[in-house]
Amino acid sequence: MMEIFSAFVSAALVCLVNAGAHTDIHWTYKEGSLDQMHWATKFPDCGGKKQSPIDIQRRNVRFNPDMLKLELSGYEAQNGLFRMTNNGHRVQIDLPDTMKITKGLPGEFTAVQMHLHWGGLDSELSGAEHTIDGVRYMAELHVVHYNSKKYNSFSEAKDKPDGLAVLAFVYDDGHFENTYYSDFISNLGKIQFAGQSMNISNLDVRSMLPENLSNFFRYEGSLTTPPCHESIIWTVFDTPITLSQNQINKLESSLMDLDNKTLWNDYRIAQPLNDRVVESSFLPPLGKGTFCRQEEIESRLHRIEGLITSLGKNMYSGGRSLRPFKPEHSDLFPLVLSFDDKNADTYALAQLSKPMDLDAFTVCMHVLLKGRGVNTVISYSSNGHDNELMVSITDDTNVREVGLWISNEFVNMPHSLKTQDWTNYCVTWSSHSGGVDLWINGMGGEQRHLQSSHMISPGGTLILGKDQDGYLGISNTDAFVGKMTDVNIWDYVLTTAEIRDQFLCQKNGTIAGNVLSWGSSKLRIFGGVQLDNQYRCS
Ligand SMILES: [Zn+2]
Repeated sequence: MMEIFSAFVSAALVCLVNAGAHTDIHWTYKEGSLDQMHWATKFPDCGGKKQSPIDIQRRNVRFNPDMLKLELSGYEAQNGLFRMTNNGHRVQIDLPDTMKITKGLPGEFTAVQMHLHWGGLDSELSGAEHTIDGVRYMAELHVVHYNSKKYNSFSEAKDKPDGLAVLAFVYDDGHFENTYYSDFISNLGKIQFAGQSMNISNLDVRSMLPENLSNFFRYEGSLTTPPCHESIIWTVFDTPITLSQNQINKLESSLMDLDNKTLWNDYRIAQPLNDRVVESSFLPPLGKGTFCRQEEIESRLHRIEGLITSLGKNMYSGGRSLRPFKPEHSDLFPLVLSFDDKNADTYALAQLSKPMDLDAFTVCMHVLLKGRGVNTVISYSSNGHDNELMVSITDDTNVREVGLWISNEFVNMPHSLKTQDWTNYCVTWSSHSGGVDLWINGMGGEQRHLQSSHMISPGGTLILGKDQDGYLGISNTDAFVGKMTDVNIWDYVLTTAEIRDQFLCQKNGTIAGNVLSWGSSKLRIFGGVQLDNQYRCS
């Protein structure tokens, strides 16, 4: 009993970052009257302007070359007694005060505890709090420190604007077991029930972190749970920690919560950035596109102008006043198509580089959706089939899915990624097995099956932004509303690395499609499709 009691005291003293169990007012993430949308009614700070977590958008971060790499002291392997606790909300390890951040932050920060946030419930649910370009990783580690140069204790520092520093690391799943986590994960079984704790005698925090600590994002934020004090300098590392799928499964299923149910975390949704700027210690991959030289821009512009073969002539003129197309150079570079819902019959007709008799394909695109319901991105009709190959994206409050038609057979792929931002979608199919895979922002989902041992008919018509209803009829239902760019089709299945490269806009690693090649296949634009200058990869 004493054991459990002291575990709770220790958790209450140091676990303010996730102090849900220990505040008098009961709050939740989703259920009940004090869910996260209502925290601010009882905890005013939760409605502040500098809240955490946030979505880190790589293309919007400010590279700060003067930002110093963190120097960590006392993080290496050590012996002692380190309490590890299941506090009913998550697992936490109390850290010795010999662990410090000695350089890279204003002052000196002393470690207090570290804890993990993970998902669970089912294998689809990721549980990291910070998202990077809209991607939620499997789990997230928080190493909590207080400003020991200025304050005497964590409790004194926890609500001061310069009081705390948290190092955050995301977890990704990989093929190999991370042996530095083996003991930690096997120990979880010993603190299965809420309130249980144990002492571990070896601790090697440095090895539990990624090797590369040079690439990180920095911003000013808050505790991610009530009372949401805006007291944290966040350092979110770009390099994920990799665990095997098996290790992640164990992490997600080992612990029980206060109701003796499997402990799976929820997370606070991304908070508005407001006036804050996220700084980075490195040039994120997406930034590279902005460093093109002027001549290169001019020559690309020239090519894009050549691609738009019949603009103006083919514009729909159904009584709407269409502005004459007078592109500014900046509007044309690079090629981004914008489909406005006010313009009926807008679509782009693609001239393909090779016939569509495909027994496998990959379709990838960057899309910024504005339309609710079904948004048709690609529609290929052939051989009397209006649904010979079609990809649609649905993003509603209740339904989020990607739909694929192959020769009049349909499969839908639901997902849970909520995004109001540019999103990268890839769909791959191979007739060999009929396997269909959906990739969103470089992350793969569950495999589906459609039309094995089948071949798509050549000789048809491929358009972007509209559904073809009946042979060559263009339908205004299920129209695409929003922006699209980098729409490519390959006649084979891309590797995971290739899919991630094109998601990350790694121009060197990315091969353009050999069936539809964005930037070199010609497009004819109809009905007032606008060209946009908000390019996703710059
Ligand atoms: Zn946390």
